[in-house]
Amino acid sequence: MNLVLLGPPGAGKGTQAALLSQRLGIPHVASGDLFREAMKKGTGWGKEAQSYIDLGVLVPDEVTNAMIEERLKEPDCAKGVILDGFPRTIEQARALEGILAERGEKIDRVLVIQVSEDTLIERLSGRRTCRRCQANYHLLFNPPQKEGVCDRCGGDLYQRSDDKEETVRRRFRVYTEETAPLIDYYRRQGLLTEIDGERGIEGVQGKILSALSLSP
Ligand code: ADP
Ligand code: ADP
Ligand code: ZN
Repeated sequence: MNLVLLGPPGAGKGTQAALLSQRLGIPHVASGDLFREAMKKGTGWGKEAQSYIDLGVLVPDEVTNAMIEERLKEPDCAKGVILDGFPRTIEQARALEGILAERGEKIDRVLVIQVSEDTLIERLSGRRTCRRCQANYHLLFNPPQKEGVCDRCGGDLYQRSDDKEETVRRRFRVYTEETAPLIDYYRRQGLLTEIDGERGIEGVQGKILSALSLSP
């Protein structure tokens, strides 16, 4: 099964994708996580992406598409993937269709998580991310068991520099202008399900599972 999670920064895509990945046994592929790993390692894609990410604008499609194409070729993606943060433009959506078509596959469903701008700011300002495995926590809504330490891998938690309020506002604008048009694009293809993201993590997960006809 190939799923796409769409929604503004801070909507809960990464949190929900991680839960779904455990449940379905297919990998969670997050373009932002791949970029941050590449930046940490100082590899080519990381160097190309850094300045865009710091500004809160999109990395050019050619770079992003090439990185995703390579990730989707890895053997763990053979049974399907949960895409989080990709595609973010119509051109990326077309590239994804091409990559999947080459292996006789398609997107099965696109879930868009809808939340208000106030909620996004509240979620992003309290977000803490694991330096090692990229897991996301929230100071109030999803705290780790031990402050500053990742439950999953013991890595240390930090605040992403692009989660500063000023950069968040720019990312939200970029979402509205460049990514939100994908909502109609997928609706026209009959692939879209809207998910109300204004509830707790478990409540949102329940909505997603029922949208996919899975038991809670
Ligand atoms: P969030 O989870 O808060 O929406 P991400 O971790 O997905 O943020 O993305 C962080 C940054 O990485 C984006 O602001 C953008 O610069 C870059 N990025 C991630 N995915 C893409 C993509 N599909 N296309 C272009 N840039 C991307
Ligand atoms: P995205 O990947 O869409 O940018 P995240 O999954 O990283 O969003 O979530 C953003 C922040 O909000 C994180 O700190 C996360 O722990 C928290 N969060 C996610 N879903 C919810 C929810 N339903 N209610 C409250 N906080 C949430
Ligand atoms: Zn971790």
